[in-house]
Amino acid sequence: MYKALRGMNDILPGVSRIWQDVEKNAISVLRQFGYSEIRTPVMEEKGLFVKSVGGETDIVTKEMFSFRDRGERDVVLRPEGTAPIVRAYLEANLHKTDPFQKFYYIEPMFRSERPQAGRLRQFHQIGAEVIGSLNPVVDAEIILLLAAILDKNGIKDYTIRLNNLGCHDDKIRLSGALKAQLSDKEVLLCDDCKKRLQKNPLRVLDCKKDSCRNIARSALKSIDFLCENCKNHFAGVKECLKGTSAEKKCVDDPYIVRGLDYYTSTVFEVSHPALGAQDAIGAGGRYDNLVKDMGGPALGAVGFALGVERMLMARSKDTAVFKGSATVYVATIGEKAAKEGFKITNELRIAGIECNMNYEGSSLKSQMRDADKLGSVLTIIIGDDELAKGEIVLRDMRTKEQISAKFTDMLKTVNEKLKTYSL
Ligand SMILES: [Zn+2]
Ligand SMILES: [Zn+2]
Repeated sequence: MYKALRGMNDILPGVSRIWQDVEKNAISVLRQFGYSEIRTPVMEEKGLFVKSVGGETDIVTKEMFSFRDRGERDVVLRPEGTAPIVRAYLEANLHKTDPFQKFYYIEPMFRSERPQAGRLRQFHQIGAEVIGSLNPVVDAEIILLLAAILDKNGIKDYTIRLNNLGCHDDKIRLSGALKAQLSDKEVLLCDDCKKRLQKNPLRVLDCKKDSCRNIARSALKSIDFLCENCKNHFAGVKECLKGTSAEKKCVDDPYIVRGLDYYTSTVFEVSHPALGAQDAIGAGGRYDNLVKDMGGPALGAVGFALGVERMLMARSKDTAVFKGSATVYVATIGEKAAKEGFKITNELRIAGIECNMNYEGSSLKSQMRDADKLGSVLTIIIGDDELAKGEIVLRDMRTKEQISAKFTDMLKTVNEKLKTYSL
């Protein structure tokens, strides 16, 4: 038998219902904040990510699903959502017509990592990006939005770790100083970090090996390398967060650097006790040079992505698991009643009522168990007696009270009954 590819999971019924709830909650918050959905293709040119995420990053060197298509083009399954959005923004000429844009996306991403809990090869992200502003209030909005999505999904106990990496020049000075300090300790670093030290020393700070990170972290803080402008920006972001619901969730963490080269200035990660120390529920930051580096004008931008699988890991500790649903359940006794029940089920569904029935001729007892399991508030029961009289029995699952109604009055009676529930 065939199996799904390693690190690529099926999302089965029951669980998919939880996904829908998480996505629905996120979308309602994203709309409240004024973000519009953007959908980009799953596949992009490889160069897009080499140029934006960075040729020396783990994502580009080790983790992309990369191949030649039939036209001999180098393509990849997208490993992240920001670069494709900047590409789409420029390709649609939005920088000329309406440069300030607020996007969101809910899409699968692909990275060929060693699969483990919370780290899959096809994983899913809910993300948001604001392009066209350097104002620190936009950084604050992005952080408040992220917190609101987590709150709406019942995720508690998370911490937003904030840092400022500095602008391009600050990052170069920080990299130089880090390289100088770490070169004495080079023998203690892993093989990857030895290479990183030469090409991109900042990457040592987020090596997946604790030993490397501890060495790098005892060295320097990005905050000590900020220019006046970046210092003011960081202070401005914190000023905007002051007194908000998310303020108490935020802490300074001088070692957040993010594993992608395009980040500058504000960066953040969201940690949660349900995940390991190296895995965040989400992360983001500013990428003020990316639009320009991709061939557009110099425009500030900031965004985040939340991992849906990781949100679910955090959520499962805090909230109950959903088991599927039917507002009305149709229980039937005998073959003839089953046929009538099928018609009634369809009629209710067409009328917009979530409705289900059993097609296998199971006992009434087991059908009533199903109705309970699906959380039905009403059960319609049809047997031979009801068929003969042209009636249904309507059982209120809350009060256990039963009433009869004519087939012809079925929909009206069901609707009246449902009104007494606040669904
Ligand atoms: Zn700066
Ligand atoms: Zn390392």
